[in-house]
Amino acid sequence: MKASEAVKLYFNRAADKLELTENMRTLLLTAKREVQVQIAVEMDNGDLQTLIGYRVQHDNARGPMKGGLRYHHEVDLDEVRSLASLMTWKNAVVNIPYGGAKGGIAVDVRKLSTRELERITRKFIDEIHDVIGPDTDIPAPDMGTNAEVMAWIMNQHNKYHGFSPGIVTGKPVEHYGIPGREEATGRGVGILALKTIGRLGHKPQDTRVAIQGFGNVGSHAAKFLQQADCRVVAISDLSGGYYFEAGINVAEARNYANSNNHSLKGYHSAEHISNEELLELDVELLIPAALGGVITIENAPRIKAPLIIEAANAPIRPKADKLLSQQGTVILPDILANAGGVTVSYFEWAQNRQYYQWGLDRVRQELDRILSTAFEEVWALSREHDVSLRTAAFMLGISRVGRATVLGGIT
Ligand code: NAD
Repeated sequence: MKASEAVKLYFNRAADKLELTENMRTLLLTAKREVQVQIAVEMDNGDLQTLIGYRVQHDNARGPMKGGLRYHHEVDLDEVRSLASLMTWKNAVVNIPYGGAKGGIAVDVRKLSTRELERITRKFIDEIHDVIGPDTDIPAPDMGTNAEVMAWIMNQHNKYHGFSPGIVTGKPVEHYGIPGREEATGRGVGILALKTIGRLGHKPQDTRVAIQGFGNVGSHAAKFLQQADCRVVAISDLSGGYYFEAGINVAEARNYANSNNHSLKGYHSAEHISNEELLELDVELLIPAALGGVITIENAPRIKAPLIIEAANAPIRPKADKLLSQQGTVILPDILANAGGVTVSYFEWAQNRQYYQWGLDRVRQELDRILSTAFEEVWALSREHDVSLRTAAFMLGISRVGRATVLGGIT
């Protein structure tokens, strides 16, 4: 199943509950604009390389469109399209005044020098600067892009349109960025995990956690949950899984990875297991925080965790989602679970528009408030309509976007 078909399936399940007409469904599912551009660049060795860049602007009924820029060799229009629409529903679920967008370039960043990465980024902005802007569409980092790339985007866009740091978020903190952006998604995953654990009648100290992926999101979620008394028994990255029944020392593992080229390879304070084994561990909470599509119809029957928090985008395939739901597994969906990042991006944009620097305490407090409100709303909807948390989250997001569309007027 293509990525966009999976989103459509979840959309339609919620739209059925909301009794949306076919015409309204078509309107809400169709992207406002899809841009595909040629990026011709000279590489360091003098060769000419031609890349394809995409920006899909899905919906702007609730405000400027917002979403990351992904640099990855597997990026294609279908993936960008589905991620753009997910951003629309995600931003609406947490009720921040944005529509949804996403962009990307099909390129393997591991094969690029920093200078090549910069040239590609600036060339991409040359091609799309007219259709993005602080009041129209605001990019942010995603896979393969980082704060440095965002600083180049700001600089290149400002050459055409004048100084405006709110053109992009996820910038370096000392260059119009915001404290707390880096930890935001993982911290949000932790906040929402604690809320769900509490609502299910469990205690953090009785909760064993396994986390797939120990990058930005996974490592910050692990740190937050350990500080909240949960027992993080397993972590993993590309080098495999690491299991310690008494609880991994997360701070030590983070230090190890940071001094080891961001890899847990060779980490000896835990037993080495495979990434597949990690997913199937006997734990109370499983957090996939690496890639999409890791829980499939094949491994779903072996997943023992009664609670899954989707930190990665779309880590569970639709058929596995159905099977797990029938098994009684509670799943907190990506469009709520990983919304902490875009929420703090919104704070960054707001502070840029005010030319006023927010402090870390304020960022954390506001993040907690926004995510907690969204969690309560999704939980209440799921109980009221007797639907999964995923369907409830889609219902909340779709109804907000639909309402804004009608209020704004379609003619
Ligand atoms: P990252 O690149 O910092 O970390 C990814 C981690 O996953 C690394 O530890 C990597 O080694 C590991 N990994 C990669 N392939 C793996 C595999 N096959 N098996 C196990 N581990 C593997 O990325 P991130 O920013 O932490 O993002 C993780 C996920 O969260 C992605 O799906 C991303 O789209 C999603 N997400 C991130 C943010 C954000 O703010 N960073 C926001 C929303 C969603």
